[in-house]
Amino acid sequence: MFAQDFAIYGAERRGAPVTAFVRLSDSPILERGYIFNPGYVLVTEPSLLFDPTVKPLEGMEEGSVLFVNSSKEVRIIPSRRVRLLQRDITGLALKHIGRDVLSAAMGAVACKLSGLISIRSVIESVEEELAELGLEQDAIEKNVQLAKECYFTVESTGLRSTSHMPPHRVVDVQYLGEKGVPDLLSTGNSILRKTGSWRVFTPIVRNELCTACGICYTSCPEGCISLDERGYPAIDYDHCKGCMVCATECPRKAISVEREAPWS
Ligand code: SF4
Ligand code: SF4
Repeated sequence: MFAQDFAIYGAERRGAPVTAFVRLSDSPILERGYIFNPGYVLVTEPSLLFDPTVKPLEGMEEGSVLFVNSSKEVRIIPSRRVRLLQRDITGLALKHIGRDVLSAAMGAVACKLSGLISIRSVIESVEEELAELGLEQDAIEKNVQLAKECYFTVESTGLRSTSHMPPHRVVDVQYLGEKGVPDLLSTGNSILRKTGSWRVFTPIVRNELCTACGICYTSCPEGCISLDERGYPAIDYDHCKGCMVCATECPRKAISVEREAPWS
């Protein structure tokens, strides 16, 4: 088959949402734009289901498959024509490699869902890609084991073909002043953008251990920590991205790391 893949990175920082696309076809692929009507949508973090800039559910059509990585029941009602599957892929990643790095895992899930790609090809791809990145053999082997478990934990849904070309979309930018550039008013460009929705792990300050030294306050790369009138830290969870720099830097280990629970 012919294949094409590309990604939109948006904010250039670790933990920020990435939207990535793959096209497969029996014939050469001439279309270059977004995939507006995907056969499959894989969501690596349930909070992204409602992200106003990612909009992963948009464009899903009858027969398309929505796979969500979640440790808890996904309480959304997609169109009844969309097939919803979910597994705790982050839990498997933590088990095999000790980190929520999901590339090999979600790739294996996608391959299995499509029914097109064998486990042998998945393993060869993971080994090849990670070796090219310079990973140690031990880390590669852990990722292979993760990919294998992910592959066998989901069922194949069979290939779903979307063949029609999408309508062209026009973005109407606004010029409110005399400037030569448009004004950016969308929530994706201001404090109204709740970047905390990207978080997988949540830092929790345990006041009984905290000495109010303020180190976490100065360490947070996002400026998400403020100090109350007594000098104790308060975390702005609307914008905390879950990088855990604060927990690492805290000399008292007063910040615990909790798995995010978006559905509770
Ligand atoms: S995890 Fe800690 S350091 Fe990272 S963004 Fe959140 S509050 Fe800041
Ligand atoms: S670094 Fe740790 S001890 Fe210091 S203020 Fe932050 S939570 Fe408290």
